[in-house]
Amino acid sequence: MARTPNRRVEARRREPLGKGLATLAVHAGAELPPPATPPLDVPVYRASTFRFSSAAAFGRYPDERGELYLYTRYENPTVRAVERRLAALEGAEGALAFGSGMAAISTALFAHLSAGDSLVASSALYGGSYRLLRDVLPRFDVSPLFLEPDRIASAPWPSGARLVYVETPINPTLRLVDLRALSARCREEGALLFVDGTFGSPVLQRPLALGADLVLESATKILGGHSDLLAGVAAGSPRVLGPIAALRRALGGILSPDDAFQLARSLKTLPIRVERQCRSAADLARRLERDRRPERVIHPSLRSHPDHALARRQMSGFGWMLTIALRGGLPAARRFLDRLELFARATSLGGVESVASIPVDTSHVGQSPGELRRAGVTPGMVRLSIGLEEPDDLWRDLDRALGRA
Ligand SMILES: *Cc1c(COP(=O)(O)O)cnc(C)c1O
Repeated sequence: MARTPNRRVEARRREPLGKGLATLAVHAGAELPPPATPPLDVPVYRASTFRFSSAAAFGRYPDERGELYLYTRYENPTVRAVERRLAALEGAEGALAFGSGMAAISTALFAHLSAGDSLVASSALYGGSYRLLRDVLPRFDVSPLFLEPDRIASAPWPSGARLVYVETPINPTLRLVDLRALSARCREEGALLFVDGTFGSPVLQRPLALGADLVLESATKILGGHSDLLAGVAAGSPRVLGPIAALRRALGGILSPDDAFQLARSLKTLPIRVERQCRSAADLARRLERDRRPERVIHPSLRSHPDHALARRQMSGFGWMLTIALRGGLPAARRFLDRLELFARATSLGGVESVASIPVDTSHVGQSPGELRRAGVTPGMVRLSIGLEEPDDLWRDLDRALGRA
């Protein structure tokens, strides 16, 4: 079927590089040098692999990892740029970015635990983390001891405890773990302290400065902030990050360059988003508490919150999350949720869009009554993540959904 090639047409096609059209289609333009007037921010390096100048350069790679890029599962310039921004925000020497919060958490735990190690963990954890500790780690002969978060610093630990894992603030009760007290105990016992700080963000708390060895964040939440990406981060010292970086290369959970760019862009507005969302949450908490239709209003800014004083010491703000407990249990919570018009009925948190969810139906689904009691979760609870909308509009939505008392 192929026509005899027309020599003159073929010759024209080879210009200007003397290569065939198929070769040009693949390679022309790729040799463009980096601009002498560089972009304001690092662009998306959507590349799986990088070009080495000589065969000998491969040999230099292990020593020059800082400048040479080999393969994007190992490192990528866009990912590295957002890691630097994240490290700076956390006050950390370094940071590693992952494709989700759970990828960061699981890689960090597997990197620092071996069969036979003992792990002390808070009994009030994000559902995914709790299931990882309760169901997966025991298969590798790591059996966690779960302790209630307000007892974890003082209760007896197994001797030789290797690692302590907590979250603060805690979902959905917004209780806090006293990180100074806990890190002092960890130092005495020679245990590493890993803190999931997703509900605080580096704007409101710096777990590393309070003595933690590693801070983990689901960057899907307030760091990303626009409900359009999944990402996770682990930040700390090279001593703690080294084994995690090595295991990330093996397990493959690195963040994609596109999402790294999107996250880097979101971080530019993180402080002003957090500031505004916290102000709206505290404002709504005050109005709801005064209103008295909810049985309980939970926000660390309120004097009625059991950790109000600790929040003042440990955090520079009270957070964008707000929980209410309704009289009438789960049916009342579901009725309330169905009446909302501006708040989206959705899980996740920290976005510019306000969302509402029922913990026993979402984050704590499937937990036994005993587990719920220990986590302080009741069926009538509704968790609200306050976004960037006008607080008065959010209030009108809550007011209508609460209905007549
Ligand atoms: C969402 C969340 C995670 C898990 O993060 P993903 O990005 O969904 O994998 C872990 N910890 C906390 C506190 C979270 O809210």
